[in-house]
Amino acid sequence: MEPEEKTKHILPLLDQHYPDAHVTLDFANPLELVVATVLSAQCTDVRVNQVTPAIFKKYPTAAHYAQAPLAELEQDIYATGFYRQKAKSLQAICRALGEKKGGQVPDSLEELVKLPGIGRKTANVILGNAFGIPGIVVDTHMKRVAARIGLTRQTDPVKIEFDLMPLVPKERWIKFSHQVIWHGRQICTAKNPKCPVCPILPYCDYGQKAVSAGAKK
Ligand code: SF4
Repeated sequence: MEPEEKTKHILPLLDQHYPDAHVTLDFANPLELVVATVLSAQCTDVRVNQVTPAIFKKYPTAAHYAQAPLAELEQDIYATGFYRQKAKSLQAICRALGEKKGGQVPDSLEELVKLPGIGRKTANVILGNAFGIPGIVVDTHMKRVAARIGLTRQTDPVKIEFDLMPLVPKERWIKFSHQVIWHGRQICTAKNPKCPVCPILPYCDYGQKAVSAGAKK
């Protein structure tokens, strides 16, 4: 089955199984989402959500991050891991926001990817969730699930994004991203995906092979 045909079948299944899929980072404005997204690298969203209320209160604007003593910012975000690199990233982003954007987070992909350390993945997370602007988020889950199903043969996240864009109606890009990420966390896990109980199994290359190989044992 071609990727177009597969996608037509998969979208309603994702709606059925993940009707409420949404971003699991807590935030109240675009800057908070930028900060939470930076902190979420190599860290669970649950942990990030535990530490961000105090951080958001202490650093309400980009200037607060930019001007904070680095060691103090490192201490404040310590619990999210990789705190040295993350503190540096936050300051670099917030300084760039202050210099070029009056401290405001831009609402275009072109402007977001100019910020230090922000790639298309993070830019699409911010656009979709803080501004409601459609984008497909190719994170580790999207990369794995799309490849296993057979929606792309690419391994580069940007090429995967461009493979997926024509398959999924633009108005569904944000929701599709959340649904696939949830599917990757809950069923199509990196190790031991639960193919026999997966709703996408009839349309998945990897799952079909895995299940028939299991049946032959
Ligand atoms: S059938 Fe298996 S490999 Fe395919 S999407 Fe489902 S869990 Fe992932």
